[in-house]
Amino acid sequence: MATQVLDEVSAFLAREHGLLIGGEEVAPRSGTRFDVVNPATGEAIATAPSAGPDDVDDAVRAAREALPAWRSLAPAARAELLWNLGTRLAELADELAQLETLDNGKPTGEALAVDVPLCSALFRYYAGWATKIEGAVATPSYGNFHVYTRREPVGVVGAIIPWNFPLLMCGYKLGPSLAAGCTVVLKPAEQTPLGALRLAELISEVGFPPGVVNIVTGFGETAGAPLAAHPGVDKVTFTGEHTTGQKIVEASKGNLKRISLELGGKSPNIVFADADLDAALAGAHGAVFFNQGQCCIAGARIYAHERIRDEFVERLAERARGIRLGNGLDPTTDMGPLVSEQQLERVAGYIASGRDEGARVVYGGERVGGEGLDGGYFVRPTVLTDVDPKMRVMREEIFGPVAMVASFADEDEVIAAANDTPFGLAAGIWTRDVKRAHRVAAALEAGTVWVNTYGMFDAAIPYGGFKLSGYGKELGREALDLYLQTKTVWVDLA
Ligand code: ADP
Repeated sequence: MATQVLDEVSAFLAREHGLLIGGEEVAPRSGTRFDVVNPATGEAIATAPSAGPDDVDDAVRAAREALPAWRSLAPAARAELLWNLGTRLAELADELAQLETLDNGKPTGEALAVDVPLCSALFRYYAGWATKIEGAVATPSYGNFHVYTRREPVGVVGAIIPWNFPLLMCGYKLGPSLAAGCTVVLKPAEQTPLGALRLAELISEVGFPPGVVNIVTGFGETAGAPLAAHPGVDKVTFTGEHTTGQKIVEASKGNLKRISLELGGKSPNIVFADADLDAALAGAHGAVFFNQGQCCIAGARIYAHERIRDEFVERLAERARGIRLGNGLDPTTDMGPLVSEQQLERVAGYIASGRDEGARVVYGGERVGGEGLDGGYFVRPTVLTDVDPKMRVMREEIFGPVAMVASFADEDEVIAAANDTPFGLAAGIWTRDVKRAHRVAAALEAGTVWVNTYGMFDAAIPYGGFKLSGYGKELGREALDLYLQTKTVWVDLA
């Protein structure tokens, strides 16, 4: 039985929300709104304002106007606002986690364990950085000069985020940019606007000055594209598909705005024969099925050594069989629905293509309905084997709970296979051999390598891709640096 929706969540859904522009909640100029659909039922549960180019223009203007005061505000005051926002998120964890479930489908327990606490921690972590941004004194190689550098905010940031971690992604973008002294226009994904709309209220509640954060809900073409191309935006930070990332790069050229991109992946997860098999299985399970498999870092290409492959496939399928599909509000649910009908069709299309190209479906492969799941976008967690590196399921990002298990004979072979992808986001290695672990970690073309673990994240630890998975890190100090630019000052002392 699904847990009752909290009163405050029902009240939030019942309210008609506006865009957050210049500290005001405003209706979109066109008056257009779009439905927010609960993926567990297929029913519309709220509406959100659909921003168009005029609204984006207003939001960018508000962000520009707010910039001089925000960037020169005492760092400790910026820190305090960020810290208080992080605290407020932690206080409202139950409500926010339910909202994530209704918006995205994910189990509330997962949102409570991961999305909300990490988002809260992010704001607190970057609160710490606001008071620690400093330049350096440089020594020129001739003359009598005093030379120093200042670290200054890049200006107005456009942040465009996807639907897989709707609230958390807001934190990824807002934490470092606000700490750096930038002002922001944030566009959440059209499938999942609720977390950002609730955050908009909290941003006003904790007292961020008007215009420092502006939130424009809407579609990629009508709100995302004008934001990416806007001459008043100094930097775009984007998370989403690599094809959209390429459009964002194109759109940036007018004013050569700075870009950072966190794009898709097709991450290998390598299990050597000497691995702790129980741990590797649990890790592989989480790597590919967490968040319904809708993670850029999903460890979808599993390479199990040929001595253990059959056992691995069988036990992974057994684990998949044990996954309880259901409404994410139900505390007994292990896996919720996919985010949308479109996503369901995409995942089903990939499974069909795997079958057509000769992969063997060991478990799953079908849409699930009945027993309270009708109307929702549920797909059975799926394990494919007998896969070939040329198959689409091995080359393209599926973004669903589909594991491909291949086998390998030796280390060089598996490194070559793991790197045979245009993506380079993440990778996993399971082995008891410490030398091999470091050797393979160095050889893999991936921005993050997990050894005997998978999917670990922390506000303090940089994360981001190589190759077609993008550039510019999220999290940690490196993310802060993306929102700062260095000014050099020469003073003649002669
Ligand atoms: P997904 O398949 O995960 O929806 P997208 O890359 O299409 O991935 O979407 C990620 C974000 O990018 C969403 O907020 C979406 O609205 C936005 N978006 C889509 N197309 C564009 C575009 N041409 N320019 C800017 N943003 C876009």
